[in-house]
Amino acid sequence: AKFVYDFTEGNKDLKDLLGGKGANLAEMTNLGLPVPPGFTITTDACKVYLDSGEEPAALRDEVSAHLDALESRMGKKLGQADDPLLVSVRSGAKFSMPGMMDTVLNIGLSDASVRGLAEQAGDERFAWDSYRRLIQMFGKTVLGVDGDLFEDALDRAKDAKKVTVDTELSADDLKKLVTAFKRIVEKEAGRDFPQDPREQMDLAIHAVFDSWNTDRAKLYRRQERIPHDLGTAVNVCSMVFGNLGPDSGTGVAFTRDPASGHQGVYGDYLQNAQGEDVVAGIRNTVPLAELESIDKKSYDRLMQIMETLENHYKDLCDIEFTIERGQLWMLQTRVGKRTAGAAFRIATQLVDQGLIDETEALQRVTGAQLAQLMFPRFDEHARTRPVGRGIAASPGAAVGKAVFDSYTAVKWSRSGEKVILVRRETNPDDLDGMIAAEGILTSRGGKTSHAAVVARGMGKTCVCGAEELEVDTKRRRMVVPGGHVVEEGDLISIDGSSGKVYLGETPVVPSPVVEYFEGRMHAGADDADELVEAVHRIMAFADRKRRLRVRANADNAEDALRARRFGAQGIGLCRTEHMFLGDRRELVERLILADTDTEREESLRALLPLQKQDFVELFEAMDGLPVTVRLLDPPLHEFLPDITELSVRVALAESRQESHENDLRLLQAVHRLHEQNPMLGLRGVRLGLVIPGLFTMQVRAIAEAAAERRAAKGDPRAEIMIPLVGTVQELEIVREEADQVIAEVQEATGTELRLAIGTMIELPRAALTAGQIAEAAEFFSFGTNDLTQTVWGFSRDDVEASFFTAYLEKGIFGVSPFETIDRDGVGSLVELASAAGRATRPDLKLGVCGEHGGDPESVHFFHEVGLDYVSCSPFRIPVARLEAGRAAT
Ligand code: PEP
Ligand code: MG
Repeated sequence: AKFVYDFTEGNKDLKDLLGGKGANLAEMTNLGLPVPPGFTITTDACKVYLDSGEEPAALRDEVSAHLDALESRMGKKLGQADDPLLVSVRSGAKFSMPGMMDTVLNIGLSDASVRGLAEQAGDERFAWDSYRRLIQMFGKTVLGVDGDLFEDALDRAKDAKKVTVDTELSADDLKKLVTAFKRIVEKEAGRDFPQDPREQMDLAIHAVFDSWNTDRAKLYRRQERIPHDLGTAVNVCSMVFGNLGPDSGTGVAFTRDPASGHQGVYGDYLQNAQGEDVVAGIRNTVPLAELESIDKKSYDRLMQIMETLENHYKDLCDIEFTIERGQLWMLQTRVGKRTAGAAFRIATQLVDQGLIDETEALQRVTGAQLAQLMFPRFDEHARTRPVGRGIAASPGAAVGKAVFDSYTAVKWSRSGEKVILVRRETNPDDLDGMIAAEGILTSRGGKTSHAAVVARGMGKTCVCGAEELEVDTKRRRMVVPGGHVVEEGDLISIDGSSGKVYLGETPVVPSPVVEYFEGRMHAGADDADELVEAVHRIMAFADRKRRLRVRANADNAEDALRARRFGAQGIGLCRTEHMFLGDRRELVERLILADTDTEREESLRALLPLQKQDFVELFEAMDGLPVTVRLLDPPLHEFLPDITELSVRVALAESRQESHENDLRLLQAVHRLHEQNPMLGLRGVRLGLVIPGLFTMQVRAIAEAAAERRAAKGDPRAEIMIPLVGTVQELEIVREEADQVIAEVQEATGTELRLAIGTMIELPRAALTAGQIAEAAEFFSFGTNDLTQTVWGFSRDDVEASFFTAYLEKGIFGVSPFETIDRDGVGSLVELASAAGRATRPDLKLGVCGEHGGDPESVHFFHEVGLDYVSCSPFRIPVARLEAGRAAT
């Protein structure tokens, strides 16, 4: 293998091998731009070194050969006493990575060659300044000496001279500083500063290799999901000097504004300095535009080069450059980081400039960036220190008075107060309070806990599982770490994007992108800003490209209408259990407790018109688009009173010898229905098969509502979905009953109803027997929440708050499988079931309605396996549309 590439040998597409920096230096070299000559040691060499603890056998000779070539080209030798060649050694992985060793400059200087450099440059001060920089950087990054020791010595030298900036130190001051620095190295590293230039270079190269595995670098890779086995390249580059006097300097620049995307002159320049001075902020830089008056020739050349780079990379580039005595040198370039807003603006600007097409524009933005643009945010400048941190469950910024129960949340919000609902965890009873609140904070539960799922569905800010907070709902207070007590009515702020919790009020700004999706701001209108315009256009690109359709998870007309505004092409999941709350709970309670057929039928009869009305509204809101109604799913005990509360009530009544017949009956029922593992108990289709008349009542309500809409000249497109099916027999029974009810309604109303009946695939057995199940199902919708739960054996309500942090830290997975589909496990079941289902029934419709339907990476997977649609909460629809478009490019 070849381990070393001259800059003339590489190109920008070799990032795996040469790292980002090396690949781009090569690219610039081959574009004919002024890059100081040099070479790159490959990531392969690094991998060998890291695996075996030794550099590959061939490396030393290859480096020697490239160094020879460099020396003959430059006409001087590394560290040559009378006229030294100096080089920089810089790390450069495929992805830019803070936490890794960055740069050692001026390698080749020694007690001997510093004098030669002084002579050649005609500047003694410069030479000694360069030498002290080498010892400082080398000491810190190669020999591991605490950098503050050097900084302190430098400060002492400045104090002694009563000067504030290092340029005011004389050659003699710097000589003394070199002596002091060498002593620091000796003392701290237990060795002399190496005088042999090749030894300096080799040690620096090894230090770069080693820096791949520092704790900080590893942590960064885990967080950013960068694989640990890539390794880093090392760039050895001949030195050019920005610190040779006022006609020299160094700077950074962007080819356009990374915040707005606007073209113009953006960057900073520092006269008479080397690169790290800019980063360290030792002296104040001037805006790049001022370079024009300092050095017009270099400025004009730089502008020209920036244009060349933009046209070549067809993107915003950031660059580092140095001017040595009026000669401009390019030290680095890369496609620049940008804010989420700028990503959208730049993509459309580049389309307008004819540099990229629509397809490429879609690759320049991400769903995560769009999601970021959709949340209201805390004003950056006004934040205080967080008092706690939980799981960032539903992004956004919310401020309000802490309340500890739903009733108070509703009451206070009715009187105009903004509240944050604080609970240990939420359950369907809290729904009213959640709607009334600005945000939800819980101390238990993970990303798919009730609070998280419902909040995301509503687009409401939520922080869950903030375990350090002691929430005491009885005493209506919460204790934060450190002991401070938040009482009911105290203001708190929660950031659903970071999971952070703050005391007091933090100012919030709304998202213009949401205003646009909501139709409150129109692209093309005078008041629409550039961002909205850009988002509007990119969404149109995505919609033109995508094959996947996007539906919404919505349970009421209001959500449905919002989903439509956001671009939903139907409802993929209406969870009917959400329609049984509030006033209707009593009716459900009666249904569950019914001892006789008559009692049960009575309560079902009472529920029917209510359900029907729900559906009429929903079908009207989604007129002309498919609406998948899922029959009742959740465990029954969720509809019954809390077992402890009820026991207390019964016991109290007994001791007072009061009548408590009803409560007693209720308590017996609650005991009977209580389950250790409710998620795996009496739910879904099992419920429909056990409670006679329940599913048929729901089917009747759907059918009658559809007929009513039809009579009103509407175009209802209802689909009936059966949850938690494990075997085709369950489905067959429900189907038979449903078909009969539908036939009755058709007969009675004289309307032909085409109601497709399908099933959720959310149990492994359903996936494994999908070929049989498809005999009785006209569509499948993958319930990837339950499928993930059952495939992994992870309780969706508990694990994220209990051991997922440890799993993430150990790298068992990079992200929760409840958030991004686990392709290998859950995903392969989805793939298998899709194929088996379609083999039985070629026109089987396939969709997904678990949380993954709105997750960017998962959307790509669902596109790849050929689903027809994804369904997600209304606020995630734009993200799903965008990612479906990106997946199709
Ligand atoms: C699922 O399990 O993925 C699903 C959509 O159903 P629910 O979340 O209501 O169980
Ligand atoms: Mg489910």
